[in-house]
Amino acid sequence: MPDWTPETWLIAAGRTRVEGDPLNVPPVFASNFFLPDERVYSRAEQTPTVEALETVIGGLEGGRALAFGSGMAAAATVFHRLAVGTHIAVPTDPYHGVAGIVAEGEAQGRWTVERLDQADTSAWIDALSRSDLVWLESPENPLITVADLPAICGASRPASTLVCVDSTFATPLLQQPLDLGADVVMHSATKFIGGHSDLLAGALVVRRDDLVDEFHERRLLQGATIGAMEAFLTTRGARTLHLRLSKAQDNAMELAQRLEADERIIRVRYPGLPSHETHGAAKSFMAGFGAMLSFETDGDADRCDAVLGRLELINHATSLGGVETTVERRASLAGQQRIPPTLVRTSVGCEHIDDLWSDLDRALG
Ligand code: PLP
Repeated sequence: MPDWTPETWLIAAGRTRVEGDPLNVPPVFASNFFLPDERVYSRAEQTPTVEALETVIGGLEGGRALAFGSGMAAAATVFHRLAVGTHIAVPTDPYHGVAGIVAEGEAQGRWTVERLDQADTSAWIDALSRSDLVWLESPENPLITVADLPAICGASRPASTLVCVDSTFATPLLQQPLDLGADVVMHSATKFIGGHSDLLAGALVVRRDDLVDEFHERRLLQGATIGAMEAFLTTRGARTLHLRLSKAQDNAMELAQRLEADERIIRVRYPGLPSHETHGAAKSFMAGFGAMLSFETDGDADRCDAVLGRLELINHATSLGGVETTVERRASLAGQQRIPPTLVRTSVGCEHIDDLWSDLDRALG
């Protein structure tokens, strides 16, 4: 593997460089291949389009990537490997799809669960010895809490304890959990990696050969394969991840500071602000603070909804990680009662900061 910087890798990896080939591996629309060949059926063997995507993501994380049809397909693959009667540790407020898998398995008696405050590093280290799966999401939905990954992933643990980090908000550019000692990295590539809110994609990245084989087999059996068009678009989006993320991250810092200084805002949560409870952890090992923040408006939930309804540039939408800024009042979702009622999770995009600010300023009234 050439010794390129991550930004060069994003642009240059996953190309054939064979004379006469297209520069970008095109979408190979195929389920079936002429036999005899190593490639038989595309649910079992990846197409060249999927291989290109896996090369790009795997190289950035320093492992072998397996692409999935969505982030949830990737996440479910990790949970569904667990035997009945196992114990898992998860954050108190993981992405609600993951929280759903955890709660379902718990209700069925498949596993026992402990839910830990992501900022409580010693509780996580403690949980390593009694857990079969330790699932971290860092930064975490929607309080943007950063786990002390070097301390937790680097702590000694039984060989049977699998540590998985949902690194969706960080992207492979801001942290590399495998280098810090995690066994598995999970991404919803639907978000920043794809970057344009036009696809669903997911990935698991691992170093251990046994996990590569196991996840490959599970993807095959579950049919959690990514489609050709989605794989192509995800790679195309990833080419500009560095540019998009650095612009969005600058915007996020500026927006967080302006919101924090504004009296119509009760509280801002952004790991780049010294006031954030996990600012120290984020500063110690992340290459940047990312483009996700949340803020609480003054007044009640109705006023907050009215503010969101007055926005003309910023998009009221649930997903995140696109070039466009999106906001959502998270407590409006089912099962999010623990979240402060006026907390607005914000995925900061690449628009001009002054346009973003004037839209918010006017909507806040
Ligand atoms: N993990 C995180 C942190 C997410 O925000 C999401 C989706 O919002 C997922 C996982 C699930 O990914 P997908 O929607 O691609 O299935």
